[in-house]
Amino acid sequence: MMSKSFATVNPCSMCMPMGSVLVFRGNEGCMPLFHGSQGCSTYMRLYLAHHFREPVDIACTALSEKGAVYGGAANLMQGLKNVIKGYNPKVIGIATTCLAETIGDDVPQIVREFQAQEPLAKDVTIVSVSTPSYAASHEVGYRVALKGLVQTMARKSEPKGQINGRINILVGSIISPADVRFLRRFLDDWGLEYILMPDISETFDAPLSQDLPLIPRGGTPLDDIRDTANSKATLTIGGWVQEPGAGDYLEKEFEVPHIALPLPMSLEFTDRLAANLEDLTGLCMPESYERERGRLLDTMVDAHKLLSDVKTAVYGDTEMVLGITSIMAELGMRAQIVATGAANPAFAENAAELAPGSKVMMGADFSQIAAEASRRDIELMVGPFTGRVVARKEKVPLLRVGLPNHDRYGASHQLFLGYEGSMHLVDCMANVLLEGKEKKVQHE
Ligand code: SF4
Repeated sequence: MMSKSFATVNPCSMCMPMGSVLVFRGNEGCMPLFHGSQGCSTYMRLYLAHHFREPVDIACTALSEKGAVYGGAANLMQGLKNVIKGYNPKVIGIATTCLAETIGDDVPQIVREFQAQEPLAKDVTIVSVSTPSYAASHEVGYRVALKGLVQTMARKSEPKGQINGRINILVGSIISPADVRFLRRFLDDWGLEYILMPDISETFDAPLSQDLPLIPRGGTPLDDIRDTANSKATLTIGGWVQEPGAGDYLEKEFEVPHIALPLPMSLEFTDRLAANLEDLTGLCMPESYERERGRLLDTMVDAHKLLSDVKTAVYGDTEMVLGITSIMAELGMRAQIVATGAANPAFAENAAELAPGSKVMMGADFSQIAAEASRRDIELMVGPFTGRVVARKEKVPLLRVGLPNHDRYGASHQLFLGYEGSMHLVDCMANVLLEGKEKKVQHE
């Protein structure tokens, strides 16, 4: 059900350009640049730095009143020059904020002019995406940035039709650096040749070192991004209910077959990833993961007596919410509210199937989630920390999952993907629920 409210009080989503930063920062030598007002980049830098506990640089063209009236071309050109001189990036990812979108700057045209007249631009790839926050959420910003990178950089190798034998693994929605590291391990143990993008495993979770590079090390190598056009297939992990993105573009433009999958959270969704990899490669899942699968089943049997029939509210990013709802259904939990801030009808359809009888909300605001939570006697909430006000009011425990998470440590290390990650999720839900019960007893 789409929100019918005429005013947003406390949205269950974030700004569209913020999603683009999570993609741009997952690629080798890439520097994000916002075209728009300075406050937007300050807010998003802080927001991401609090979540990942890492410094996050986002350059900005700092449009002022003059730029807002006469157009921001001069600011954008100067901004590009400054970023090249100051950061020496290999790629600049430009995302627009509401102001630049409202005044209607033609960013691709300004970039073309810059590339034609500025010698500094010759060794830098510039990707620009349109991210008006008043039109869509951070999830859409993430999707358009991933597509924009592939559109700008993927190239068919010569002679035409030559295939590199690799599989593109596109991370289609926001997951933690630990989840990305898990995906790499899973694919390596399988013995696969693959291209994974974006890769935030190091760029948002770097080891402590004495030197602090201006642009973090790691990320998907740029040659790999170019080579995505020559792969034998694409799997978008966490692209199940998303509108056409990078994988669809590669299929349409370069005939690379594309399969969109849910995030591998829960038994069923992880099995689905494994089955697709088996089909694509003709190889069986490694024995160690069969044993992990067995451990997940054992964990579910153990926790079932505590978790079954528990009434829950799940909210946050579409793919993450569907993954969590799936494991709740497997455990016999009763998801009563399944909500996202994104406007995504495919999400609503699948959420209703996974949790029959629940209140499914898209374009959700926390004020609506709060009203519904009191009506439905919720016992556990699962989602980003932004739901804590509702949890406090309803006196129910909250398991913090996904972005943003500002009031707890370890967001980068939360592993919820695969059989192992699903096992953690079950343990965490059980423990948070038990702690909540203990607190209640202490206060009685
Ligand atoms: S809503 Fe628009 S103006 Fe406000 S912070 Fe987000 S991008 Fe900037």
